Amino acid sequence: MLVQVCVTLLTTALLVVSACYTESPPEQRWWAGGNVVACLGLGLTSVESLPVLLHGVIGYGVVAFGLALVLRGLRVHCAANLSWPAIGVITAIALLIPAWFTLVAPSLRARLCFSGFYFALLNWLCAVVVARHGVWRVSIVSLTGFVLLGLALFLRGVHMLLHGDLADRSSSLAMGLSTLAIPLAQICIAFGLIQMVMWRYAERLRRLSTLDALTGALNRAGLDLQGKRVGLRALRGGRSLAVIMIDVDYFKQINDTHGHPVGDEVLRHLARLLKLELRPHDLMARFGGEEFVLVLDGVDRAAALNIAERVRARIEDAVVDWEGVSVRYTASLGVVCSDQHSYDLIRLISAGDVAMYEAKRAGRNRVAVG
Ligand code: GH3
Ligand code: MG
Ligand code: MG
Repeated sequence: MLVQVCVTLLTTALLVVSACYTESPPEQRWWAGGNVVACLGLGLTSVESLPVLLHGVIGYGVVAFGLALVLRGLRVHCAANLSWPAIGVITAIALLIPAWFTLVAPSLRARLCFSGFYFALLNWLCAVVVARHGVWRVSIVSLTGFVLLGLALFLRGVHMLLHGDLADRSSSLAMGLSTLAIPLAQICIAFGLIQMVMWRYAERLRRLSTLDALTGALNRAGLDLQGKRVGLRALRGGRSLAVIMIDVDYFKQINDTHGHPVGDEVLRHLARLLKLELRPHDLMARFGGEEFVLVLDGVDRAAALNIAERVRARIEDAVVDWEGVSVRYTASLGVVCSDQHSYDLIRLISAGDVAMYEAKRAGRNRVAVG
């Protein structure tokens, strides 16, 4: 019992401290608040010297309210919500049924049964929301915690149903297992929730540091990082690696004539168009202002030439609309392949640049091979 109280207080403190960080996302505040409320409720239900209305009715409602807040936090984390009426219903059920078994048809056994099953259900609802989060290696710890806590509480409900004898409470195997499982589950939940938020931060940082904010393509740092991996993979697999450099023709004129926002839209349009050519393991990066690079694994020079020609034609045919302005643009492309050069991405890119400038010199809106 003492261990359980200590673990409950410690895990709640951990969630509260992590939610106090000024940049903490809202779900952390829901989790911390929910845990504090649930702790208060558990305190109320366990002090049997309090008036029965407090420890036998309101205590359950407060625990359920706390769990509903945690559920709301989980839904917020998964870009959904849990409305206040829904939280009200969850709380009201936990007030009305114990009130019935306290005031109308008093039965401690029925009340404990209900609380076991109902709080198990709420924890499993939390588990369902976490499971839908999708990234298993991130959510597995908290998922395990919620499932385990639900199981432990369910076991308590079953035990009460079968052996209503309260004196027998601590002796049965089911009660022993659940007493062991509850603190373990609470630790899993607290660490799992913090891990989910940390992963979000790490993802956001990764995106900020490796992706171009305007087009969503990789930036130079992202290309350096992922390019080495793709190059090595192609080399080891004995496949060709093709690089296509793409530079918008007379882009400065587009900016000067229609303004920067239209220029930006042209860049976004080009990124979307290039993305259509990519397979999951290919890379697309914004190499400079209006210059993009494609790194294609398992594509030889002839195939890369076909792709580049198709891209060039698509660009030429496209019309970019932005707030009533319609613009057409063209691009010059340089194609190189590891069969003629090396697998070193830096060398491939500079050879691709040379080819691309040849296409510029030859009149633009064309493909040149290096
Ligand atoms: P060329 O056909 O020889 O490639 O000529 P160009 O005009 O496309 O090339 P230049 O290098 O002269 O101009 C590139 C322009 O791209 C200049 C710069 O203002 C613009 N630019 C760079 N980054 C951005 C951006 O993020 N948004 C917008 N709208 N323009 C940008
Ligand atoms: Mg240009
Ligand atoms: Mg350029």
